[in-house]
Amino acid sequence: MTRLTQHSYWRDRAKQLDNCDKLSSLIQQFVIPDSLIYLDGNSLGPMPEKAKLRAIDVVQNQWAKDLITSWNKHAWIELPRTVGKKIARLIGSHPDSVIACDSISVNLFKLLSVAINKQEGRNVVLSQSDNFPTDLYMVEGLQSLIGEHKITLQTCEADSVTEVLDERGEQVAALLLTHVNFRSGEIHDMQALTKKAHEKGVLVIWDLAHSAGVLPLHLDECEIDFAVGCGYKYLNGGPGAPAFVYVNKKHLKNLKQPLSGWMGHATPFAFSPSYKASDDIQQMLCGTPNVISMSVLDAALEVFDGLDMQDIRSKSIAMCEFVKAVIEQQVGLKDLELSSPIDAHKRGSQLAYAHPKAYEICQALIKRGVVADFRAPNILRLGFSPLFLSFQACLDAIEILCDIMLDKVFLSDEFAHRNTVT
Ligand SMILES: *Cc1c(COP(=O)(O)O)cnc(C)c1O
Repeated sequence: MTRLTQHSYWRDRAKQLDNCDKLSSLIQQFVIPDSLIYLDGNSLGPMPEKAKLRAIDVVQNQWAKDLITSWNKHAWIELPRTVGKKIARLIGSHPDSVIACDSISVNLFKLLSVAINKQEGRNVVLSQSDNFPTDLYMVEGLQSLIGEHKITLQTCEADSVTEVLDERGEQVAALLLTHVNFRSGEIHDMQALTKKAHEKGVLVIWDLAHSAGVLPLHLDECEIDFAVGCGYKYLNGGPGAPAFVYVNKKHLKNLKQPLSGWMGHATPFAFSPSYKASDDIQQMLCGTPNVISMSVLDAALEVFDGLDMQDIRSKSIAMCEFVKAVIEQQVGLKDLELSSPIDAHKRGSQLAYAHPKAYEICQALIKRGVVADFRAPNILRLGFSPLFLSFQACLDAIEILCDIMLDKVFLSDEFAHRNTVT
């Protein structure tokens, strides 16, 4: 028995929306357990079939049989560039401005150092207080290395960035923001804030962890200076997949990123005793690429071949609006308080609901086969990856959520234990 208010209306609506969904067949490219409704593609994308096949090929054939010849034979050495070019198309960048390597955290270290070096006489990195913590931690770490007189972190609320730039923009070396907030899903106006920052002589570094692969982006057109992004969220590259880094072409000369490992050298295989950076995006590399995970990410990106980011965005908006409308109508869900922006155009591909028992609710959902996640202190985060979710599946998830809330299942002791990873 369903306990969803206006059940048949929403069923029909879901069916209609699924029937008009241009992307509906893409689910066949993913391996997802049948009974699972996966609302966590924003945390760890599911596995594309092609990624699995490539993982097998890269270990069974390339590594096992061709061994070291694979660097040339299977173009392992090109992988950071190959993957970078595929990502470039998705983020509105020239193909030679993006390279895949390391993690977001490590890439931020490189970019923050570059930005600080370029900005003689300015030492402030401006960010927002509820930015993803690693972004802030990396500024702190660099500060402890080179000193507060060189770099110091200032944070403000999301809506007062412009004001702070107006007040003390002259001291700010770099503006470091995450385009889509990881908790609330709120989107910053990338173009307007970049323009504002540039007026004050401030360089911008955008973190695209929750944008790349789900929102249309126009990095070159917006004249972004630098950006980083994640390979394992909406790009479905697998756990710990390499991240990527974007450098505007105008900055590629004299970049001087400090992790001057041999893979960033102009001629790594000349084995010269002194470092000379490559003059293209290759200089962002440090050491040897993670061939296995980079190959898997490369294959995962094939899912995006021929797709238009605008179509992905349209489905994402339709899906979030649908879920939000259904939830709003349910008496049983009235204690869930939306903490994402109400306006779909100001929101990424997720809905965040605040509830004092959000952790327990999330655990109860997972037990019923609906995978969402919890973000401290009190957020139930539902992510909507348009590539593999149907409207019907979203509705099924809300029905389960209604059961859990109406029966107060989440109060059971079994859901109170906090796992290490939430
Ligand atoms: C997931 C995420 C990261 C991850 O950083 P890594 O160093 O690659 O682990 C960084 N920033 C944001 C905003 C994220 O959501």
